[in-house]
Amino acid sequence: MTSIETELAPLEFSVTKNLAARSAAQRDEILQNPGFGSTFTDHMVDICWSARGGWHRPRVQPYGPIALDPAAAVLHYGQEIFEGIKAYRHADGSIHTFRPDQNAARLQRSARRMALPELPAEYFIQSLRELIAVDGAWTPSGEDQSLYLRPFMFAKEAFLGVRPAQKVAYYVIASPAGSYFSGGVKPVRIWLSETYARAGRGGTGAAKTGGNYASSLLPQAEAAEKGCDQVVFLDQDGNVEELGGMNVVFVYKDGRIVTPQSDSILEGITRNSLLQLAEDRGHTVERRAVSLNEWRDGVASGDIVEVFACGTAAVVTPIGTLVAEGFEDEQPRGDLALSLREELTDIQYGRREDKHGWLYRLDA
Ligand SMILES: *Cc1c(COP(=O)(O)O)cnc(C)c1O
Repeated sequence: MTSIETELAPLEFSVTKNLAARSAAQRDEILQNPGFGSTFTDHMVDICWSARGGWHRPRVQPYGPIALDPAAAVLHYGQEIFEGIKAYRHADGSIHTFRPDQNAARLQRSARRMALPELPAEYFIQSLRELIAVDGAWTPSGEDQSLYLRPFMFAKEAFLGVRPAQKVAYYVIASPAGSYFSGGVKPVRIWLSETYARAGRGGTGAAKTGGNYASSLLPQAEAAEKGCDQVVFLDQDGNVEELGGMNVVFVYKDGRIVTPQSDSILEGITRNSLLQLAEDRGHTVERRAVSLNEWRDGVASGDIVEVFACGTAAVVTPIGTLVAEGFEDEQPRGDLALSLREELTDIQYGRREDKHGWLYRLDA
């Protein structure tokens, strides 16, 4: 075990193999039908941080429970951030991830907002490589399957005073993931939450932090009661924000693509990538406030021809219906969302040229 003095020296991970690791046969059976987020690989990565010692004790160890002091700050004040990124198996067996530099930079932005330490991008990427080095065989090879990687960081210092923790843990776990939509991509019904917000001006909406998800659970339950799959939130000015786990994109009749911009929206890497691909095809992209009226009027007049949501887990989801107290707007169906989805996943799975240099090989 080596502790690290300088930030940019590569970390030397200690590796403890899981003696109870599942057999290849057991693993293959799980990979036949992995679902989403319910099965995990045999190992996990963790790196400690302290205000005195910086990043230290990088480890790969058997996947399992984390011992925490009951006074650990995260359990009381929610000082926590995470990322979501996938590993894709290509036809030649190699394992790649997608724009990990972007996830590393976002984890740093989230860390700044939540007063957590910024993990250097090199360490972030190295942590993914270390986990793939022991658990790469868990990357499935079926259509639309991937290994979902979940890096996360939390305040573990045992202290009930309110200030940034001086002891922090960073982990990476991995979960094989099947196709998000069994039986093809289906348009979803979206509930417009007019009672609840997920974030506010100057709040934590742009950080990938658990609290934003906690605050979205009650509106999500309300959506389910109304027969909807997801919630769309408005910001404090009544503009369209996002779904709480996916960004929203509008396609206009003249080919313009418009997506909400505000400091309470989480900048999705899927969205940025889809919009880049759309620009490559000649579409004009506008990032600006979109009011609920613009959305509803645009659909009514035929100016808006397609609305979709996007994020790493589901990639692209067409929005089929917008439901609120007092109205139910059928959304127009187009084919741009699914065509961009195909182009993006073709790049991710190595079926199409990676013109932007977005892929990063993890297993070599
Ligand atoms: C992660 C996330 C997204 C989607 O981001 P991607 O990088 O595309 O996966 C959108 N909204 C919120 C709140 C998120 O946490």
